[in-house]
Amino acid sequence: MTEAFSPEARARAALNRADFRASHSLGQNFLLSEGFLADMLDAVPIHDGTNVLEIGPGAGVMTAMMAARGARVVAVEIDRHLQPVLESVLSGYENVTVRYEDILKADLPELIETAFSSAPYILVANLPYYITTAVLERMFALASAPESICVMVQEETSRRILAQPGEKQWCLLSAQAAWYGDGRILRNVPRAYFEPQPHVDSCFLCLERHADPPAYVSDEQIFRKTVQAAFMMRRKTLLNNLRAAFSLTRDEAERILASAGLPPGIRGEALNIRELADVSNVLAGSLHSR
Ligand code: SAM
Repeated sequence: MTEAFSPEARARAALNRADFRASHSLGQNFLLSEGFLADMLDAVPIHDGTNVLEIGPGAGVMTAMMAARGARVVAVEIDRHLQPVLESVLSGYENVTVRYEDILKADLPELIETAFSSAPYILVANLPYYITTAVLERMFALASAPESICVMVQEETSRRILAQPGEKQWCLLSAQAAWYGDGRILRNVPRAYFEPQPHVDSCFLCLERHADPPAYVSDEQIFRKTVQAAFMMRRKTLLNNLRAAFSLTRDEAERILASAGLPPGIRGEALNIRELADVSNVLAGSLHSR
């Protein structure tokens, strides 16, 4: 392929032709440098035939490069103004489908089933910052969750995602991520790599889904609600947060914590993922026997 037809050259030309103005409110900070993207994608588990869900293809340079590496990409883009750009950059790639919709409003199980017919897939995205947490929470909770999640996020968000119990940053998102898989930062990405340049630096990180859940959980729904309750009101005790979330009496909540081997004054953020699983199992037993 000559330089004139490289995805980056096509994207720059198409963005110019469309007189495209990036929207700050849609988090449009593009990665157009093929040199940078090639290096970044080398760390992503893409092989011939890998199913990839991409959220926010933007001008499509990364999309085209993943397709050139043999991935079958289904990309979801909210902004119809990018359609002529994406059509130009992605023309000739049979293995790419773009859906124009808001990922937060999409029926994700349906979208994933239609895209990949129950086959394994991975999520790769330079996520718009304003929906990072919402997207990750939804992906973690899916029965058809991806095998791995490789995403560009704000540096500060990466610290929250990868925080460990006992650390200041340990929060709901960290606990959900820890339940989903093992994470690591693949690259620190200075703001200068993006066009237009955002106000913060970023990290490209990858979470690999656990082959088996990190702890036994008798009722997944109650477990997820327990984790949410644990981080609901950080200044309140776990006891009070559980009471509010599950409509428990003080006696019931105290007995549940005692059965899980925890003192009544403990705060949710003091618990690791296994201790949260223990609480949820006792709670599930108690709720089911009501
Ligand atoms: N992947 C491209 C790149 O690396 O250059 C673009 C990344 S840019 C940070 C985020 C992209 O997500 C933009 O194209 C934006 O229009 C799109 N986007 C924003 N909100 C979205 C939403 N709710 N659903 C789907 N796409 C969205």
